[in-house]
Amino acid sequence: MTGSHRTTAPATAPATATRVLVLNSGSSSVKYQLLDMADGTRLASGLVERIGEGAGEGTARMVHTPHAGEAGRRERGGPVPDHAAALKAVAEELAHDGLGLDSPALAAIGHRVVHGGMRFSAPTVITDEVLAEIERLVPVAPLHNPANITGIRTARALRPDLTQVAVFDTAFHTTMPEYAARYAIDVETADAHRIRRYGFHGTSHAFVSRRAAELLGKAPEEVNLIVLHLGNGASASAVRAGRCVDTSMGLTPLEGLVMGTRSGDVDPAVTFHLRRVAGMSVDDVDVLLNKRSGLVGLCGDNDMREIGRRIEEGDERARLAFDIYVHRLKKYIGAYYAVLGRVDAVVFTAGVGENSAPVREAAVAGLEELGLAVDAGLNAVRSDAPRLVSPARARVAVAVVPTDEELEIAEQTFALVAAGRRGGGRES
Ligand code: AMP
Repeated sequence: MTGSHRTTAPATAPATATRVLVLNSGSSSVKYQLLDMADGTRLASGLVERIGEGAGEGTARMVHTPHAGEAGRRERGGPVPDHAAALKAVAEELAHDGLGLDSPALAAIGHRVVHGGMRFSAPTVITDEVLAEIERLVPVAPLHNPANITGIRTARALRPDLTQVAVFDTAFHTTMPEYAARYAIDVETADAHRIRRYGFHGTSHAFVSRRAAELLGKAPEEVNLIVLHLGNGASASAVRAGRCVDTSMGLTPLEGLVMGTRSGDVDPAVTFHLRRVAGMSVDDVDVLLNKRSGLVGLCGDNDMREIGRRIEEGDERARLAFDIYVHRLKKYIGAYYAVLGRVDAVVFTAGVGENSAPVREAAVAGLEELGLAVDAGLNAVRSDAPRLVSPARARVAVAVVPTDEELEIAEQTFALVAAGRRGGGRES
């Protein structure tokens, strides 16, 4: 990032400490993973959901999976009034397995933070000042940053002495050139309200880009990639020589591809129209475009597996939803092909990208002239490993690379801790 913040961590944990706790705090949930960065092993993972819901029926649920795997999975219910109580429950479950937060083996906590604005282009050690800056970004990320901030505050209260690092979803996209990041709207208005394209899912795009380069046997600086993160949220990015040069999400994660419940690109005038003609409030339109659109709005289902089943049964609405989803995807592949000029690989990741052979096949169908095709046999293989699904000697590779945002957050967090140990916590 710019400014004079620490880019390396002060050495607060002993040199033998290699564990990183990754926290992803949502408004009513906390997802966590404990990783050992000596070898990348996952020691435990879990989820607390429905935080803040009262006693009785809608009480919180916690699922904790120790590294022994699903067999050792533990669940507990009961009210969890706030994030502090949620983290306390996480700490108890970890302590139960001898992995408590007070362990000297814990080197740092890495927090997922959705919006880092233009200021944070790299993982950053959290200080009071950094936290204040993340708070200043709340107006551009009102749905996401407040929950991340709560998670950070709670974790800092629990272990004030421990290095805590913020890893931003937007960071990977800060390399976008101004002509890709700026909307063509009045410059003064845009700047006054920090309206520009920030991009999201950056942690995944960064992780997948590096792994895809590895799969191609090249350094990240040697390859141009179109990365398609297709989960419940979905985004595409154009990556030139390891750096993002364009991405489909914008000021918020609403722009771009068709998603599970979000519309992606629409004419902004749809909003005025609904306001003026349908009498909908701004909040109504917000809910419509973010929660009641995309695949769910088109056919009532947001799970691609269910949509696939319905298509096989001849369901026309599911077919149309699939076709709209794929058409948008294809338009972005074409656009980013043009942006990059030369493409080494189109890379599919996240729930749909990793698992849906029909989506991958349909997204590149008819693009043979661009050197793009899938091999039906390879595309049908199910695997957790990064793999090529294009025919041998294809001009442009088509790859499937499973994403792992928690591992990426842990790696970025631990890299700061390690740099701090080497340099004693230099200021940048
Ligand atoms: P994510 O947000 O990355 O966890 O992705 C979640 C989405 O992945 C779900 O909503 C499904 O649409 C999709 N998904 C998961 N498994 C499959 C599968 N086997 N086939 C097709 N889509 C899948």
